[in-house]
Amino acid sequence: MPHITNQEKLKRDFQLRLVSKGPKAGAWRGHYLKCPVCGYFVLKGAGYDECACGNISIDSDMLRVSVQRTPESEVKVYDAIKRSDKEKPCDAPDAER
Ligand SMILES: [Zn+2]
Repeated sequence: MPHITNQEKLKRDFQLRLVSKGPKAGAWRGHYLKCPVCGYFVLKGAGYDECACGNISIDSDMLRVSVQRTPESEVKVYDAIKRSDKEKPCDAPDAER
């Protein structure tokens, strides 16, 4: 069964930092590949994930990244950094004042 990234949760809980466009020195860096067609972030690193339009699919167990409809150089690669609680001021109780 394909692993499908929860996009809302990803954008809420993680900060996405651009690593590169396309593979670097023949290898894909970063945690997520963003599909230039549908904007879906495809997880690289665990199991199988595929974007909504089917352009990008990643089989991490086989170390296989496939981009079907766009040049690989169009695909932006992101690192996902977990947001700390400090960056969510809305959730923090205002206890000190
Ligand atoms: Zn897509």
